[in-house]
Amino acid sequence: MPDDLRRAIERGEMSVLYQPQLFLETGRAAGAEALVRWEHPERGPIPPERFIPLAEESGEILDLGRWVLERACEQAALWQRELPGSGLKVGVNVSVLQLEHPGFPGALAGVLRSTGAAPEGIVLEITESSLLEHESRVAEALWRIRRSGVMLAVDDFGTGYSSLSYLDRFPVDYIKVDRSLVRRIETNGERTVSLLEALVVFAHSLKMRVVAEGVETPGQLETLRGIRCDIGQGVLFSGPLPAAGAGAFLAEHLPGDPP
Ligand code: C2E
Ligand code: MG
Ligand code: MG
Ligand code: MG
Repeated sequence: MPDDLRRAIERGEMSVLYQPQLFLETGRAAGAEALVRWEHPERGPIPPERFIPLAEESGEILDLGRWVLERACEQAALWQRELPGSGLKVGVNVSVLQLEHPGFPGALAGVLRSTGAAPEGIVLEITESSLLEHESRVAEALWRIRRSGVMLAVDDFGTGYSSLSYLDRFPVDYIKVDRSLVRRIETNGERTVSLLEALVVFAHSLKMRVVAEGVETPGQLETLRGIRCDIGQGVLFSGPLPAAGAGAFLAEHLPGDPP
């Protein structure tokens, strides 16, 4: 498979889908997360949870990550032109190996320039576990990136040894609560809700927004709204879509021109 992975981009087997995100209080479109897809000619679709770790092992993640970043910034620039004033954000998952590369902040600035995407319309997502494991090596890059105006999100929050103490050491704008924690709202009940509620209060006091991932049921939505979680993403609203479909969904969830 590693050889296949190397050639997958040039062979046009990779694509990027966009999963819409909505503000929970108003239902207004907040943005979308870019999610890479690999359609292997013989094996069919291979999930990112299988090939991203392989790409990280082989180093291919640097090229793949760069390719996804370019697509996502092109798309963000297009939406910024088509839906001016919408404030839509495009989330891009980045591997810690990309962040550790000394050329990354410069390459990011180059992609923003060449695509015309506004930096404040891009949110880089980095998983909580990789942030904690590689803290000393990525901290400087994260501060440099944040100073350029690009936003940062902690992804998969609640899956590792979550500790809130690191959040004041990183310039984080968004906390993305993992879907396993969102699922526990209904299975575990009050304890999970209290935990999430405290997280939201804490995040707001540090001027961060909380995004709930994997919102699947009206009950989860109601609870998340009640505790003032800011943004939701999940199949209750929409799964990941090709760019045109995601753009149409987002446009439908923006206040339109009066008839
Ligand atoms: P993630 O960044 O936490 O992305 C959210 C995952 O949850 C996506 O899976 C999305 O399709 C899925 N999801 C969203 N809403 C729901 C829901 O309501 N129910 C359920 N059951 N699932 C939902 P996906 O696309 O398979 O991606 C899996 C992971 O692969 C991502 O998790 C991310 O860590 C990684 N990944 C995806 N694209 C990239 C990329 O371009 N670069 C890197 N480095 N990692 C990527
Ligand atoms: Mg993500
Ligand atoms: Mg996540
Ligand atoms: Mg994940």
